[in-house]
Amino acid sequence: MKTKVYLFSLLMVLMSSITLAAQLPLVYHRYYNISFWGFDRLHPFDSKKYGKVYDYLVNKVGINPESFHVPKKVSGEDLLKVHSQEYLTSLSSSSTLGKITEMPILEWVPNFLLQRKLLDPMRYATQGTIDAVFLSLEHGWAINLSGGYHHAKADNGEGFCVYADIPLAIYKLHEKYPSYKVLIVDLDAHQGNGHEMICGTDSRVSIFDVYNKDIYPRDWNAQHSITYNYPVQSYIEDAEYLKIVQDGLSKAIQDSQPDVIIYNAGTDILAGDNLGRMSVSEKGIILRDELVFTAAYEAHIPITMVLSGGYTNQSASIISQSIEKILTNIVHATDNLKKDRSQNKRSISPKAIAFGCILSSIGLYFVYTYFFKK
Ligand SMILES: [Zn+2]
Repeated sequence: MKTKVYLFSLLMVLMSSITLAAQLPLVYHRYYNISFWGFDRLHPFDSKKYGKVYDYLVNKVGINPESFHVPKKVSGEDLLKVHSQEYLTSLSSSSTLGKITEMPILEWVPNFLLQRKLLDPMRYATQGTIDAVFLSLEHGWAINLSGGYHHAKADNGEGFCVYADIPLAIYKLHEKYPSYKVLIVDLDAHQGNGHEMICGTDSRVSIFDVYNKDIYPRDWNAQHSITYNYPVQSYIEDAEYLKIVQDGLSKAIQDSQPDVIIYNAGTDILAGDNLGRMSVSEKGIILRDELVFTAAYEAHIPITMVLSGGYTNQSASIISQSIEKILTNIVHATDNLKKDRSQNKRSISPKAIAFGCILSSIGLYFVYTYFFKK
């Protein structure tokens, strides 16, 4: 009888797992969001934009929280594939982290707290980019709701970028598929000098970069590694910017014939963003993302989008609307959502099933001991 009770419990647990919602290649961990008990307000970055985008996708678009892929924390062993041991060791100094994040006040914060509050979120996000690239091979597309630390180099971090997530994702991809050609499409307002320095000598990687030439990092050395180089002037507006992206990207895709695209979709090109100093409108950014996704989709090339820079008060809202448009108009993931919703109407939530399962097991055990054990 005892065996039967346990078998019944097992059956209930299996049933609850079957009713979980379908997975989408959207990658998010609640630990992505960076908070320092208010210290983060001293920085011009909205370091919680990731959670805001997630909330929008769940509450406004109706994506089931169970549909998101949740990454683990990237391992130290993997970080060593693209970073030197010396650099990784230097991160145990708060002063190094203060410099990378451009928050000198962090030099006074105990390092163990920075490990937990600053580096852990970035480690989850780095694994998120790796996972997203592999998910894109399966689904044709994937979006990591963070990542895009495109200034991080092998031996040093800068511009709020600690870990080189894109080069590491490419390294992991090449471990499994050594011949795959990758095109990095970097449309953040800043030049992607980190991945340019790390991947520049790899003939399997091409880089398309449109950036404001008048602002940080102005890294001449890294510029030699840009395959399709589009430096633009400050305060460029929608029409001119979108034409450069559209024409340049179509040429880059045709020319490099990539197997995979990694899209660094920084939103700091927004008019009024003091760091990016460009003048692209909200509508322009949403159009840009649609344009990149459409180009990849029409060419049947798996695309992974990472969020990168853009931390103004409007950033989270623009990213959210842009992802909603991509899900609805291009990858048609909303068809799956409709299925999810109707499934949810028919089924009881997994939590309720698990609860019912525990209660039933206890109940059956009592019935057994009362009637049969006597
Ligand atoms: Zn940027």
